[in-house]
Amino acid sequence: MGRLTAGKIYLVGIGPGSSEHITPRAVHAIKSADVVVGYKTYLSLIEEYLTGKEVISKQMRQEMERARVAVDAALDGKRVAVISSGDPGVYAMTSAVFEYVSRNGYSLEIEVVPGVTAATASAALLGSPLGHDFAVISLSDLLTPWDVIEKRLVGAAVADFCIVLYNPKSSGRKWQIEKAAKILLEHRSPATPVGIVRNAMREGESVVITTLKEMTTHDIDMLTTIIIGNARSLVYGGKIITPRGYGSKF
Ligand code: SAH
Repeated sequence: MGRLTAGKIYLVGIGPGSSEHITPRAVHAIKSADVVVGYKTYLSLIEEYLTGKEVISKQMRQEMERARVAVDAALDGKRVAVISSGDPGVYAMTSAVFEYVSRNGYSLEIEVVPGVTAATASAALLGSPLGHDFAVISLSDLLTPWDVIEKRLVGAAVADFCIVLYNPKSSGRKWQIEKAAKILLEHRSPATPVGIVRNAMREGESVVITTLKEMTTHDIDMLTTIIIGNARSLVYGGKIITPRGYGSKF
């Protein structure tokens, strides 16, 4: 059947993990695909939809390789779903696929299916930490030079953005979060509320509310998202609240 239909790529975000947080469009895209490409941990989260499909699982760092395999299959007339956790456009597969297609001058139907990203899934568990302007920064310096990351941390801190940190720490990247905390403390009160969310909306979920000063004393790893409040954020009833406005309308 697949060979009779036109090739197409779906870049699918499956949300943070639980089946209740995947969109109907994402399920539709996966169900209608002949080939499903993704990192094996993410594929295990959608196992129920994979029966009868060609499944291509790749390691985490092989993003360009995953993009190539997916595009080749689509050029071959197949419907291909490329799976990302959260949203596919946030530190995930969308750029790799578009880059590969544009670099080679291919013409291909591509549909991006958005998903609930770690920032909003984590924010939901913390209350209302992103009620005002926020900046999203990945601390991974594998694909981005550290001086660029540092510049963005300073900019976001100086401008009093709430800050969401993705990829905060891994077994091979330990000092970046310490350095980030130091930079933020130069511009923001040590008492600033910080939320540390691990495995949001999937098995093993944990939520910690702490302060900027204490942030790095807690367990932080690659399954963790960190949200740092702005100068107006406060903690009430075990939740972080960032006021909607800077004025005093209420
Ligand atoms: N495309 C994904 C992000 C991929 S980068 C998205 O939109 O969510 C990987 C980083 O995302 C992790 O290091 C972690 O910081 C964050 N992350 C992804 N899923 C998460 C979850 N369920 N709970 C907490 N953090 C998560």
